Amino acid sequence: MKAVVFYGPKNMRVEERPLPRLGDYEVLIRVKAASICGTDLHIFSGDLEVKTPIILGHDFSGVVENTGKDVTRFQKDERVIAHMVRYCGECLFCRQGRHNLCLKSAFMGFEVDGAFAEYVIAPARDVIPIPAEVSFEEAAITEPLVMALRVMDFAQPTIGETMAIFGQGPIGLVQTQIAKLAGIRVIAIDPLKERLKLAQGFGADHVLDPYKTDVVDTILKLTDGIGVDCAVEASGSQEAIDLASEVIRSGGKVLFVGAGRGLRGPIIQHRERVFVEVLVDPWKYPLALKLLAEKQVDVRSLVTHEIGLDEIVDLFKGLSEGRLKAVKVVVKP
Ligand SMILES: [Zn+2]
Ligand SMILES: [Zn+2]
Repeated sequence: MKAVVFYGPKNMRVEERPLPRLGDYEVLIRVKAASICGTDLHIFSGDLEVKTPIILGHDFSGVVENTGKDVTRFQKDERVIAHMVRYCGECLFCRQGRHNLCLKSAFMGFEVDGAFAEYVIAPARDVIPIPAEVSFEEAAITEPLVMALRVMDFAQPTIGETMAIFGQGPIGLVQTQIAKLAGIRVIAIDPLKERLKLAQGFGADHVLDPYKTDVVDTILKLTDGIGVDCAVEASGSQEAIDLASEVIRSGGKVLFVGAGRGLRGPIIQHRERVFVEVLVDPWKYPLALKLLAEKQVDVRSLVTHEIGLDEIVDLFKGLSEGRLKAVKVVVKP
């Protein structure tokens, strides 16, 4: 099969690889669409370390090609995705149902081969059928929804509260939509005009360019001098982490979603602020797919590029060097 193999920072190649070997409880999936995540770009540029060599790609959709002998739940050609968390099922956290914290966890595209390939393998228990109303392209952009839903678990905002969302990339833009679905007032922050425009289209109540406005000042004005109830940091920049921690009210919450190298937490201020590092939750994928099927969330409008496997290396270079601008890129093997 054709696969894009990552060997180390800036070193990724399209190669011919043998088909992954199918275990008794596993499903072989023919990839129809996979999306590039901000995290993949961090890995490519060397900001985040992964086990190498590895096939990246952790958000994808496809059809069942073959199943191991003990798999009864899936048929050939069934439309599916697989969540990205491989877990042991036996450790303390797994027994508590917190599989994303598994002591032996291995994430797709981080420790086990991912979906920038013609085929990918996943344990049957991690494979989820795609509703008929959801296209392969949409189903390949499930993880941002999963993250946004996980954020809501921790933020627990109530109707009328205000959420500031730093970064309006795919995760921030989906977070904006989910927050609006929940009746939350949204202040969306991003330096890129096109992204703020998308945020506005998704219902953001206020949009701010951090290079043109004083974010702290403006947010305080918008919240009667008190600060927002919660802030989501989805940009992965240190400035945004510091600002997000600054603009929340006393007792407010900051949810960290953005990734990057050497990011530091906020300075202690004794204001009973709550800080949470949010991690992908495998049990949110079915709800994410349901919201897509019901057209409650729009991920289609995020897609700015559709490419083949052969174009992926050039695209990663272009994005990491800043020559190319994209919101979401969908790869079709
Ligand atoms: Zn991701
Ligand atoms: Zn475990």
